[in-house]
Amino acid sequence: MSQQEKAKKEHHKILILGGGTAGIITASLLRRAGQSDIAIVEPSARHFYQPLWTLVGAGAVAQASTGREEARYIPEGVRWIRERVAEVAPEQQRVTTQSGAQIGYDFLVVAVGAQLNWDAIPGLQEAIRKGNASTNYDYDLAPKTWELIRKFQGGTALFHMPGTPIKCPGAPQKIMYLAADYFRRIGIGRQARVVYGSALPAIYGAKEYAAVLERVVERYGIDARFQHELVEIRAEKNEAVFQLKSVPEKQQVTIPYDLLHVVPPQSAPEFIRKSPLADPAKPQEGWVAVDKQTLQHVKYANVFALGDVGNTPNAKTGAAVARQAPVVAANLLAVLAGREPQARYDGYIACPIITGYGKMLLCELDYTGKPAPKIPAINTFRERYDMWLLKKYGLPWLYWNVLLRGRNVPFLYEDHPGQAAIGKEEFAVR
Ligand SMILES: Cc1cc2nc3c(=O)[nH]c(=O)nc-3n(C[C@H](O)[C@H](O)[C@H](O)COP(=O)(O)OP(=O)(O)OC[C@H]3O[C@@H](n4cnc5c(N)ncnc54)[C@H](O)[C@@H]3O)c2cc1C
Repeated sequence: MSQQEKAKKEHHKILILGGGTAGIITASLLRRAGQSDIAIVEPSARHFYQPLWTLVGAGAVAQASTGREEARYIPEGVRWIRERVAEVAPEQQRVTTQSGAQIGYDFLVVAVGAQLNWDAIPGLQEAIRKGNASTNYDYDLAPKTWELIRKFQGGTALFHMPGTPIKCPGAPQKIMYLAADYFRRIGIGRQARVVYGSALPAIYGAKEYAAVLERVVERYGIDARFQHELVEIRAEKNEAVFQLKSVPEKQQVTIPYDLLHVVPPQSAPEFIRKSPLADPAKPQEGWVAVDKQTLQHVKYANVFALGDVGNTPNAKTGAAVARQAPVVAANLLAVLAGREPQARYDGYIACPIITGYGKMLLCELDYTGKPAPKIPAINTFRERYDMWLLKKYGLPWLYWNVLLRGRNVPFLYEDHPGQAAIGKEEFAVR
């Protein structure tokens, strides 16, 4: 029987859509908890550790080192269906893949991440194709960012930050600080005008971290423009057009650039956005509507979502996924056993903001909006060299060897309700 014919007849107790960060961690945890009928639908043969793309864009890490074979990380005993999901029908408890295969499920975990919408800003694609615009949000383009920074001779280097939810909202400013640092190191700091065009009202939401980052902006002499929403790129003229959000009359500002780092606007993947799982309050974004603490779908009790595709109000980061996955695993097992979901995601995120080569500020928050530092003994409220080492070497190691394998991360899971709910032994390092 061919893979497609087999898939046509398939049904799984637990079906996970997406084998990225969230899909693999959740599958590993459920497998460790003794579940035997799990399948992951994931079309990509490569698994990427996206947080390193920032350092690829800064010439500090090799592009190829950020991806590994997906097959190495599908947990043993879990079936990998190498297909792309085209439709989800929660009433029928069924998904349809692009090849037309149908897969039934008892429980569904949606972990398909965020979709990059290249058409959402007129001129964006042309600007990227044309030459001096790039983005670290794409594996293939991150090396181009470094090429542009390396070859920059002076003029305006413009860094864009959109107002709608994106994965790693810190990434647009990280590459800006790295570029500004690089320009100084090679002696063209005075010829470089670094501009931050952000649709948000401030450099960072939490004031404790904003205060540190404001000093970084000042140190580099960055011209930070807030409430600036990018609405068009005139690629042929190297101009970015921003709509001012702070003035009542619709005033626009045009900024000519010699280098542009742009962030493609993001939404849930199209098949989710159009499905009954999407949050009806924000149809343009279409994130899956889940309870922000239990991560259970607000309407379908047998559906959970986590990671970038969920509509939870935290910053979309891998660190959030690490904290969410045990909650989803615990609550799915509870519902499977006929109990109420007990585990609660507290909104924890960690955003490692690189502020220069060898410097990093680790911003940690939860739903209270207040700093929630988890690393014991050191002061993380300042730029640190050890945090840079953590970002460049420590976190990638932790990702590939511990998190994706569903192993225990003491400072992340120690006080975690998900851990208690599943049972401590399920998180023990094996
Ligand atoms: C430049 C950059 C820097 C970042 N820096 C950091 C950082 O410093 N710290 C941090 O914590 N986070 C960072 N992140 C964010 C982090 O990578 C994401 O939050 C994390 O990967 C989210 O995991 P996910 O599983 O939800 O999505 P992903 O890891 O993107 O996985 C989604 C998976 O779904 C699959 N998929 C998509 N559509 C379908 C479909 N139709 N059918 C089946 N499968 C599908 C994809 O192939 C993919 O494998 C960064 C991201 C970027 C781009």
